Amino acid sequence: MQKKLIDDSFSIVLGKQGLDLAKILDEKKYINEFIIAKKMNLTINQVRNFLYRLFEHGLVSNIRKKDKKKGWYTYFWKIEKINTLEFLDKEIKKRIYNLEHLLKSRETKRFYTCERCNIDYSEENALLNNFICHDCESVLVLKDNTKEINEIKKNIIYLKKELEEVEEEIKKNKDFLLKKREREIKKEKRLKKQAKEKLKKKKINEKKKIKKKTKKIKSIKRK
Ligand SMILES: [Zn+2]
Repeated sequence: MQKKLIDDSFSIVLGKQGLDLAKILDEKKYINEFIIAKKMNLTINQVRNFLYRLFEHGLVSNIRKKDKKKGWYTYFWKIEKINTLEFLDKEIKKRIYNLEHLLKSRETKRFYTCERCNIDYSEENALLNNFICHDCESVLVLKDNTKEINEIKKNIIYLKKELEEVEEEIKKNKDFLLKKREREIKKEKRLKKQAKEKLKKKKINEKKKIKKKTKKIKSIKRK
């Protein structure tokens, strides 16, 4: 499921190359850009160009390492999962908004069409052209929108379902991160407590030692 959503995001930005990159990149470990280029059979500059386009949308992140001998930087890349899902979320919402707009216009306005050129005219434009196509001069006919309207409705339903899935994934991933962070905080606290107790014991031992020493000194003096 998640894999498909990441594919969708990457292909919105890069088309087919996005799908190839989604296959090679990982969400947990950084991958050397030279290895990516080799796997995709592209030059390093082509690969960097693709990766930077994803990077601009926050879909990937990088770390760089300097080659001490040659003096240049090599970049390592990984998928930013939550950002990628949130990007897809926004894109789907945009599409739904546009389709709902289109649906409303198709449902409320009348359109005319030239059946020969397959061009649609709004009612106003058809009137301006005296119901004659300005390309081939055929008579325009009133368009039956039923098929198109059904198609748009189907698309909206499909996108809304996908949106639900995306939002569920985002929530799951954020919950996971939150729990992970909570575990880390607990661990930090535990370690701090342990360190404190160790220090306390050390101090007590030191005090005991000092006591022993002073006792010894006193007993020596008494003798
Ligand atoms: Zn025409």
